[in-house]
Amino acid sequence: MHDDFTRTPMLGRVLAVLLGSACCGGALAQQAAPAPPPPAPLQVQQVRPGLSVVSGAGGNVIVWSGPDGTVLVDTGLEYRAAELLETVARIAPGELRFVINTHGHVDHTGGNEAAAGRGAVLVGHERLRERSGRDVARVAEPGSAAAVALPVMTTTDRLALHLNGDRLDVLPATSAHTGADLAVRWATANVVALGDVYWNGQYPVVDVAAGGSVAGLVAAVEAALARSNASTVIVPGHGAVSNREHLAAYRDMLVAVGRKVRAAVESGQALEQVQATHPTAEFDAQFARPGAAVSPDDFVRNVYEDFRRTGRN
Ligand SMILES: [Zn+2]
Repeated sequence: MHDDFTRTPMLGRVLAVLLGSACCGGALAQQAAPAPPPPAPLQVQQVRPGLSVVSGAGGNVIVWSGPDGTVLVDTGLEYRAAELLETVARIAPGELRFVINTHGHVDHTGGNEAAAGRGAVLVGHERLRERSGRDVARVAEPGSAAAVALPVMTTTDRLALHLNGDRLDVLPATSAHTGADLAVRWATANVVALGDVYWNGQYPVVDVAAGGSVAGLVAAVEAALARSNASTVIVPGHGAVSNREHLAAYRDMLVAVGRKVRAAVESGQALEQVQATHPTAEFDAQFARPGAAVSPDDFVRNVYEDFRRTGRN
C-alpha cells in the first residue's frame, strides 16, 4: 500500500512542524510559503570523544570522527545541508567517508546529495533504494530543491564499520518507524542511535504507508534496550540525547497505549470514541509538550489505523 505521504494530514502536519512552516497537509508542497524567519543556528553536543550530535537541521545528525575519517548518521533537511556540512567540517576536519541513513524521510536524508558530493558513501536499508523515489522524494515536490541521493551500499542484515578504534554496528529493522529503518551502535563508545524509532519526550509518528508498524516499533525499541546498559548514550531521531531509563519509559508508553487502543478496537469503538477516552492521558505530561509535532489525538489515530490494518500491535 502506497498512500501519498503528503495526503496523510498528520504526517503532512508533522513535516510542516519539522520544516518550520506554517502550512499543513497537502498544501505543504504546493503553496509558495511566505519567507520564514531565519532558522536557529545548529546546536552541537559532544556525547563522547569523537562523537557529537548536531540538532536543528531536521532530525538529529550524528558526527563520528577520528584518525580514519568522518561518518555521519543522517543528514537533516536539504535546505540546512550547506550549514550542516560547514559544521561537520569545523568539528571533524578529516575525510567524510560514510553517511548512514536511519530511514528515508526528508528530514533525515536531505543532505545526502551534498554529502555524496563531498565523497561520502551513502549506506541505507535495502528497501530505502526501492522506496525513496516513491515515498521520500515526492514529499519534497513540487517546487522543492530537496533531492534524495540514494544509498549506494544497502543491507537487510547486520553490517559493521571498523574505524577510529571502534566498531559501528548497523542493525536493520524492516517494519518500525517506516519499512526501512536502521539503528546503529558503537560498541566501545557505548552509544546507540535509533533514528525515528525513538522520539524523546514526544509521541512518535508510525509511517504505516511506508511500511511502519506499532508492533515493529516496540520490537525495535526492545532490541535497543537489550543492547544497552545504564551508561549507554541513546540518541533519538528527534528530541534531546537520552538514556536507557527514558527509552524504557517510552517503550512502556507505546505498549500501554497500544493495549488500550487495541481493546477499544476489539470492542467495536470508532476512532472518535477511542480518542474521546484519552487513552494517552497518563502519559501526556511527558509526551504531549506544547509545540510537539504529534498531538495525543494524532498518535491515537496512528495506533488505531495501524491496528485496524494489521490486527496486532
Ligand atoms: Zn522519520
